[in-house]
Amino acid sequence: MKYVAAGAVLFIFGLMLPIEGIPRLLLFLAAYALAGGEVVLRALRNISRGQIFDENFLMTVATIGAFAIGEYPEGVAVMLFYQVGEYFQDLAVNKSRRSIASLMDIRPDYANLIEGEGSRRVEPQTISIGEDILIKPGERVPLDGIITSGSSSMDTAALTGESLPRDVTVGDSVLGGFVNRQGLLKVKVSKPYGESTVSRILQLVEDAGARKAPTESFITRFAKVYTPAVVFTALFLAVLPPLFIEGASFYDWVYRALIFLVVSCPCALVISIPLGFFGGIGGASRNGILVKGGNYLEALNYMDTIVLDKTGTLTEGKFKVSEIYTNGRLTKEELLRVAAIAEAHSSHPIALSILEAYGKPVENGSDPGHKEHAGLGIETTVDGANVLIGNDALFNKRGILMEGGNSDSTVVNIAVDGKYEGHITVEDRIKSNAGKAISELRSMGVSQVIMLTGDNKNTTERVAAELGIDKVYYELLPQDKVGIVEELMENSSNGKKLAFAGDGINDAPVLARADIGIAMGAMGSDAAIEAADVVLMTDDLEKLPQALRIARKTRRIVWQNIAFALGVKGIVLLLGAGGLATMWEAVFADVGVAIIAVLNSTRAMK
Ligand code: ADP
Ligand code: MG
Repeated sequence: MKYVAAGAVLFIFGLMLPIEGIPRLLLFLAAYALAGGEVVLRALRNISRGQIFDENFLMTVATIGAFAIGEYPEGVAVMLFYQVGEYFQDLAVNKSRRSIASLMDIRPDYANLIEGEGSRRVEPQTISIGEDILIKPGERVPLDGIITSGSSSMDTAALTGESLPRDVTVGDSVLGGFVNRQGLLKVKVSKPYGESTVSRILQLVEDAGARKAPTESFITRFAKVYTPAVVFTALFLAVLPPLFIEGASFYDWVYRALIFLVVSCPCALVISIPLGFFGGIGGASRNGILVKGGNYLEALNYMDTIVLDKTGTLTEGKFKVSEIYTNGRLTKEELLRVAAIAEAHSSHPIALSILEAYGKPVENGSDPGHKEHAGLGIETTVDGANVLIGNDALFNKRGILMEGGNSDSTVVNIAVDGKYEGHITVEDRIKSNAGKAISELRSMGVSQVIMLTGDNKNTTERVAAELGIDKVYYELLPQDKVGIVEELMENSSNGKKLAFAGDGINDAPVLARADIGIAMGAMGSDAAIEAADVVLMTDDLEKLPQALRIARKTRRIVWQNIAFALGVKGIVLLLGAGGLATMWEAVFADVGVAIIAVLNSTRAMK
């Protein structure tokens, strides 16, 4: 910038001093070298690398051309404006990148490792699983872990976008990136730094820039064709009219051609469009919505079918035992005990509810034959007897007759040594805002809402009726869900996108297969974070329409920039060709458009 400023001073001298001929040329050449030497060198360097038609080349040819036809001040002025424009553009780009980085500023600096009586500040990377750390009021939680003493209220906004603090106490888990608002906490670390939520999220956001939206790749391809096209048009413009039109001067037409070169610079598009998507991704993550790439942010605009998993997505996924039925051989307590022991190793929400209802510690023997059938239930041994526990589909498959009648809740059947003993009914609650979120999606153009579940017909139909869902598929195994989503995608019309939203328990393959895989309540569910394209950091279904709104806003901004940049350039090109614009105006238009487009892009973040 120092050289450019010096160039500007010489330029002003050149305009004011009454010099002529060679001294004037030398003065402007010196100003040019200072103001634009860097650009010329970059152009040469890029040509030697085989990239000819970039903005450095365009500016170099245009300004040298200006000198060639004797318009020295124009030659210098174009370089000056171009450099100043670049400077402001960089400033705006850096500023928005910094504000995205700072909104993702959840990287912990240190952890207080507990050693004997005291604690010592260490790098979070050096702490391993099972070590105890101390988190003081006001500090950022460095690593994921479980509270072993103390209680506090946590600010989770950086991860979830949720402004309400979350109360935590002994036994609750905390995630790196939360901020401890008040109490002194002792936490046993449960994940090493590299696998903790914080570093996974940072990784995701960093990688997101690499996945280009179709519009972004389109602009890159467009610039590749557009720039050479304008350069050749400029060449024809300089050469043909003076040859074929009587009275046309070379000077006039070369000057008009140079305007073409200045205007043809595609920088406004090439810089502002990726920045728009980057801003949209940043703005989404500030609201607890992680989008893994510009391509997914753009795809959300074309979503017309949403497929939702029931348990944990539309419902809370927190079951409560509501009824125990036995056929009399076992008492209710005995049946519950058998069920609890069988479910002791499972992390399925149903298993957790049975263990909670049992309420006593279980002697969970390690049975080598223990098998959990995803979407069906569990097979294991309890007290030396064979126990089968799970849904109707599992029992039908094994040919075990069920007793006790129908229910429109989720039923967990129990058989011991092949004989039916009874069942436990568990209830799940529909999320309070599920209906609202679905109707909002509909009003935004999502035409099909479909529910998939491994649960039974009665429960499924009750939930579907309550939420106004178009179509349900029930008693599915995890692999059936993939098949259904594939079929729906085949039958959907061209250009329309299908999104699948699931909680990540048993549905990672579907998340990966759908056009847009959306993981719910992903806090902690590793498989879901990996497989999904969009991760909603809270279980809140309202984030779905919100993600759509952010996608729309980003698209609107990107297309505003495209239309604005091409429109202004088109006008200046026409004026230039008709001899109505000067090079000064051309460079003003070019630089101005770029800066306005970049500033517009930064709105995507808000
Ligand atoms: P969803 O498709 O609703 O998310 P899952 O695929 O996780 O449900 O499970 C489908 C069904 O399989 C459950 O509704 C339940 O009947 C049965 N099931 C799965 N795991 C278990 C388990 N650990 N214990 C009992 N039943 C289970
Ligand atoms: Mg599920």
